[in-house]
Amino acid sequence: MEATAVVRLLADLGVPLPPAGKLIVRSPIDGGQLTSLVPHTPAEVDAAVAVAQSAFLAWRLVPAPRRGELVRRLGATLRRHKAVLAELVILESGKIRSEALGEVQEMIDICDFATGLSRQLYGLTIASERPGHRLMETWHPLGVCGVITAFNFPVAVWAWNAALALVCGNGVVWKPSEKTPLTALACQALLAEVAAELGDVPPGLSTLLLGGADVGAVLADHPAVALVSATGSCAMGRAVAPQVAARFGRSLLELGGNNAMIVAPSVDLDLAQRAIVFAAAGTAGQRCTSLRRLFVHEAIAPDLLPRLRQAYASLRVGDPRDEGILVGPLIDAAAFAAQQGALAEAKADGGHIFGGERVTVAGGTGGYYVRPALVDMPAQTDLVTRETFAPILYIMTYRDFAAAIALHNAVPQGLASAIFTNDLREMEVFLSAAGSDCGIANVNVGPSGAEIGGAFGGEKETGGGREAGSDAWKAYMRRATNTINYSRDLPLAQGVKFV
Ligand code: NAD
Repeated sequence: MEATAVVRLLADLGVPLPPAGKLIVRSPIDGGQLTSLVPHTPAEVDAAVAVAQSAFLAWRLVPAPRRGELVRRLGATLRRHKAVLAELVILESGKIRSEALGEVQEMIDICDFATGLSRQLYGLTIASERPGHRLMETWHPLGVCGVITAFNFPVAVWAWNAALALVCGNGVVWKPSEKTPLTALACQALLAEVAAELGDVPPGLSTLLLGGADVGAVLADHPAVALVSATGSCAMGRAVAPQVAARFGRSLLELGGNNAMIVAPSVDLDLAQRAIVFAAAGTAGQRCTSLRRLFVHEAIAPDLLPRLRQAYASLRVGDPRDEGILVGPLIDAAAFAAQQGALAEAKADGGHIFGGERVTVAGGTGGYYVRPALVDMPAQTDLVTRETFAPILYIMTYRDFAAAIALHNAVPQGLASAIFTNDLREMEVFLSAAGSDCGIANVNVGPSGAEIGGAFGGEKETGGGREAGSDAWKAYMRRATNTINYSRDLPLAQGVKFV
């Protein structure tokens, strides 16, 4: 039935279903096959990069505000098709409707942002030490941007990259997750349609490559791909980063997180409870920013923990299309095995587990549904320092604030973090150089659900990349420093005398 729905949704968008092939696409809702597609070959990757490269050579000369017009129109078409695109996101990723709509909204938001940005690709004018000279910085288009994305944000992450890359004057070659290629097909087709309308967009400026890690690896290794923006697990980053570095390419890595929250004694408990439940159980714990570690001050643990158990017990787990469901399925059997394995290890480490069991869902045979788990841990064991991409929240108590910050930072990842406190000193320390070591540090807001206006990304094994707002656009351009002499003399820098 879902396979028919896919055909209908794609037809609503005017997108023909490509030929069947050996890439099987399943819905996490019931494990049923949605479609099958033909993966691209290495030769096709080569061809896509070559076309994008020649499109780039023309596109870089198009004035940036005109490039912004393409992205403005993309945003308009995404707005028009928001509901249909969200349905596809639900079917292939298992997100609940409001989160799937939110994902499409993120694409619209970044298109708005990038359109404005197309008139603001500013460089600096810098005081020269020499008379009659001027120094300035110019930002130029970079080249072909390879974009590799993960299953859990099947399209928003592409839009974060593509909207900026396109206004910055680049070509884009996108390799979406092999688990979620359908909305990618739809978005790519919508972009091709607005590009054709505009008339002056070179053909092949944006291409889609279907396939798994092997296709991603060929893209990442391609010498003509100036920037590889790769989102996914730390394991993927560990493979891609040296490959790109070996050819002196530029990489933008958005990898795994192991996000924590400190809950201090002055906390507003209602606020913290709501934030924790959304951040840890929302999207079935399958956000890179999902809350995975909770450090609760021992004075308030007796108040907060029963509240969390109560809230967790009332979370409705089930078919993400149904009204009132808050927790949909895990993406696949491997994710379920990892969740079960982590819970078994937590138990062996002395953890007390609440929830975590498989949930049977009517019509969802073949889907992997689990009750989000709360795990009281005696310590931050090795298990807790790893990212398990499932709704498991490890809870630890603390007495000393400085020790809590030290534990907070004592993991290899550094994506998102939060503190819930009404104590001004704790708040400022958490945000200071001696506080959270993450790329995202929030106060009285959970770690997940970032707005596109800020730069998004994390430190350490999260990869160090920044996407979306603020000055993240600079990753998609190359900077030239220019010295201009308008005098009739030739003074050398640093007062050097020569002939
Ligand atoms: P994954 O690493 O399995 O796959 C991500 C993408 O990388 C896919 O398109 C895959 O085909 C490709 N890929 C895998 N190995 C590759 C290789 N060696 N060379 C080139 N491409 C390769 O990740 P996933 O399971 O799809 O997504 C979940 C992970 O992504 C989690 O770890 C999550 O934290 C992370 N994630 C991070 C962010 C972020 O912004 N930091 C956002 C979303 C997801």
